[in-house]
Amino acid sequence: MRKPYTYFTLEFYDQENGIRGGGGLGVLAADTRRVADQMGLPFVAVTPFYPRESYQVMRDGKIFDERRDVDYHDFGFELVDTVNIKCNGELCRLEVIQKTFGSTRLICITEPNFGELYEGLSGSDHRLYQEVALGFGGYQALKILFLEPAVLQLNEVVTFFAALAFLDDLVASGMDFYEAMVLVRRSTLYTNHTLIQAAEAEFSSEQFERYVYPNLKSGVVRRWLSEKFTDGRVKLSSVTLEIAGKRNGVSKLHAAVADYHTLGGEKVEFRAVTNGIDMKKWVLPETLTFYHKCGIMSSIGSLTPDFRGGLDNLEADKIRELKRHGREVLNEVLAERSDQNGAFLHFSDDDFIFDFKRRFVGYKRPDLPFRDLLGLRAILEPRGAHYILAGRVHTGDSVMAGKLSKILEAVNKDGYLKTHVHYIADYDEKLAYGLSVGSNVAINVPIVGLEACGTSWMKDVANLNLLISTHDGGVADVKPDNYLNVAGDSEEAELESLYARMEEAVAAWDNDFDLEFLMQKQLAAFLPIISGHRMMKNYLDFLLKA
Ligand SMILES: *Cc1c(COP(=O)(O)O)cnc(C)c1O
Repeated sequence: MRKPYTYFTLEFYDQENGIRGGGGLGVLAADTRRVADQMGLPFVAVTPFYPRESYQVMRDGKIFDERRDVDYHDFGFELVDTVNIKCNGELCRLEVIQKTFGSTRLICITEPNFGELYEGLSGSDHRLYQEVALGFGGYQALKILFLEPAVLQLNEVVTFFAALAFLDDLVASGMDFYEAMVLVRRSTLYTNHTLIQAAEAEFSSEQFERYVYPNLKSGVVRRWLSEKFTDGRVKLSSVTLEIAGKRNGVSKLHAAVADYHTLGGEKVEFRAVTNGIDMKKWVLPETLTFYHKCGIMSSIGSLTPDFRGGLDNLEADKIRELKRHGREVLNEVLAERSDQNGAFLHFSDDDFIFDFKRRFVGYKRPDLPFRDLLGLRAILEPRGAHYILAGRVHTGDSVMAGKLSKILEAVNKDGYLKTHVHYIADYDEKLAYGLSVGSNVAINVPIVGLEACGTSWMKDVANLNLLISTHDGGVADVKPDNYLNVAGDSEEAELESLYARMEEAVAAWDNDFDLEFLMQKQLAAFLPIISGHRMMKNYLDFLLKA
């Protein structure tokens, strides 16, 4: 029996291996696996392989969802075996497939009707099926591979059933319930990415009768679980909080403000473990080489103790040279994807690019810069600057889809903005990378208090973009004077602050001294935070302390 660090996640963003995620949660999971590999850590990620994926295409200024089938055979997975779970009165056969990478493995659960990521509404039967399949199926997969979790990290509450299966298995094989609970609690870590417990979907006891209880071998565990329902309903966070002895939020601010209570009414304390990124995946190779040569990063991707000294070598000419390489990459990405007007963009070294790239959801405020089109034009036009907007609208989110169409309609009515504001559909890893390495300034303006961490801005900082941001999520791990901070006590004031910062950013890129100063300050503050190695070390410290 081997005992790796085991990480369950319903979302995994790893297109190279055929798995497309929905956003930051999946990117984090895939980065965590890669960082564990670089550190030589025995690590197993367990996640579904979705046989169908959704893409977004733009036609006549409107977004359309498309589905594509994906076959795991095309991505080098090995079929391990099949496992069965019971759902809705039937036996469901799940395939267990795996791929090994150094000290780590990716184990996936799949079957032809598994559906796609986030199919159906949260709280629906299909979601419960997917969650149960991952938890119980994934746990059985570990057993047939002779693996037992030394650490069981639950990436959000939808992976609760993995811990439940672990508990059930211990009790069914003869361990006393309380002894088993102590063991599971000690090894289980619940990673929360959500701020408000009330927003979470609930399941009914009737749904549990059909999908969950039939998979339990132990009557005691079943009784324990059935007692957690209130008025016939349960939130997975309440049961996750009972089974996971360790809990963390994903930035300092998020851990402090996440408002969760146990079933007993006690306020939950979350440890802060700020997310990090896999620098090897997300940073332009030329920039990584520079970090390495100047003694900023060791070759395996962690920072050196004296990395701040190394940053003195980051002169304006160097920044511009590295950005030229990045821009070539961006141009390659953009050669394959047109903007809303069907134009394929190609930028010269001298073009100036602002970008806003993240899921198109309300709290991230993709529309904020467009509240005053003349104001925006007055910033862009003198420099001939472009503004690239990228981010998927959540399938079925008609409010945000409407907002996007309105923005694009309005932009297209303005002669300058029409050719300088570009929406690129189907935001994914490739576009995220292209924009991080190839643009000049990244804009991140979530409503303060609502972003759990965010990792796109980490890619931007590491790739030498100036960051304009509200003080939220992981950005707020450092003081606001380390980046171009947007602040104000009303949305109008924030908009004014954003425009002022955009003007400063344009000016800074044309002034060597300012550019070096701002970039070095930004990196000195953020490099220790954005390193995925730092994140992994924080998790290990947290888990290894009794
Ligand atoms: C990095 C990345 C994210 C993370 O987004 P945040 O809004 O910063 O959390 C989401 N989607 C893709 C495709 C990414 O590459």
